[in-house]
Amino acid sequence: MKVAIMGAGMSGLSCAITLEKHGITPTIFESRSKVGDRFINSEAMFSILNRPVKDSLEYISENYNINLEPLDRVKKLTIHSKNEIGNIEGKIGYTNIRGRHNNSYESQLARQIRSKIIFNSNYDYPYLCKHFDSVVLATGDGQYAADIGNYKCDLTVTIKGATVEGNFVTSNPHVWFNYDIIPKGYIWVIPFSEKEGNIVIAYPDYPDNIKLDIEVMWEKAYSLVSKDLKQSFKITDKFEITRYMMGICNKAKIDNTYFAGNCFGTISPGLGFGQFAAILTGVYAAYDICNIGVYEQLTKPLFENYNHSMTLRRFLENQTNEQMDGYIKNLDNKFIDYIIDNVCSNENSIDLMKLSTPIMRLWNNYKEHSHSR
Ligand SMILES: Cc1cc2nc3c(=O)[nH]c(=O)nc-3n(C[C@H](O)[C@H](O)[C@H](O)COP(=O)(O)OP(=O)(O)OC[C@H]3O[C@@H](n4cnc5c(N)ncnc54)[C@H](O)[C@@H]3O)c2cc1C
Repeated sequence: MKVAIMGAGMSGLSCAITLEKHGITPTIFESRSKVGDRFINSEAMFSILNRPVKDSLEYISENYNINLEPLDRVKKLTIHSKNEIGNIEGKIGYTNIRGRHNNSYESQLARQIRSKIIFNSNYDYPYLCKHFDSVVLATGDGQYAADIGNYKCDLTVTIKGATVEGNFVTSNPHVWFNYDIIPKGYIWVIPFSEKEGNIVIAYPDYPDNIKLDIEVMWEKAYSLVSKDLKQSFKITDKFEITRYMMGICNKAKIDNTYFAGNCFGTISPGLGFGQFAAILTGVYAAYDICNIGVYEQLTKPLFENYNHSMTLRRFLENQTNEQMDGYIKNLDNKFIDYIIDNVCSNENSIDLMKLSTPIMRLWNNYKEHSHSR
């Protein structure tokens, strides 16, 4: 059985690890010169977004024998709205590193395979289809799926980020929802270490937003973060991504082609997290190739999660700064704080996203109707 994997990232490498465990050695085609050869950034995995799984890393280790070493456990997530600050505390997830770093998740995954990676590859999808029995498309964006008419793009996002030097608590990422500065988007601060972290802004490319000057937004976001965290950060690296696609494929598999990772649609439109689901699609594609499972069946819950996350995005977009202040303020309420901390904990499997989707959908419908009137 000849299997080609296009892309040596989260989903492609997870697929290769799983295939090897079942006796298949795939050929991996990577367009870059090394695994993860791009800017370094910090990312996070929050268990509440991956339900019904409790602890994401424990789950992939115990079930699929894929072992990843995070940077740290997240013990506190601080949420800032325009005028309020709230915290979710407990064992709520992990932070990790990506890109050209020896300990990035893609570097860690690459150390768990023996298969050959063909670097600087410019083999295209039709060529691989012709010469291999199965092709796993794992190129990290929906473009390949879109090119063959198998992708529904719901929105694109502009992302601008920087690595900064400062003082960080590694177990405590921060997020800001301040729509005066980043309309319908957010600012993340995820530490790499006690001395380094990422500040990232991400906002949807809607007509009102694309008229805005990204440099001005970035400067405002940077000043806000500096003020709130009471520091002046030194920028050591910058990156920018335009038109980052958020959408999902129509079919998880067409003939012998598997759509994995962001080619499948694992990036969740709500908060932009996709690493965990990317790993799952890689494993599931391998299961199908090895006749252990059926890809379309295995990926069904991921389609559902995507829809819940899309509802969350619309819900967040439909809020005002004042409404966001109201929610964040409530995180100080002892009873609500207790419930939210428990629901978000790694020790719980409650699917808050799924449970709250009908309410958020009602709200979204109400808002959309009142706008169209
Ligand atoms: C700035 C940023 C921050 C993010 N933060 C988070 C976060 O905090 N938490 C989270 O869970 N998710 C986050 N995500 C999303 C997450 O990184 C992705 O969902 C995940 O990496 C997708 O995995 P993948 O396998 O689809 O793609 P990737 O891991 O990106 O791998 C794709 C690989 O394919 C290669 N490739 C591309 N084209 C070709 C080609 N033609 N031929 C061969 N190889 C090719 C690429 O070079 C790359 O190595 C973030 C994304 C970005 C951009």
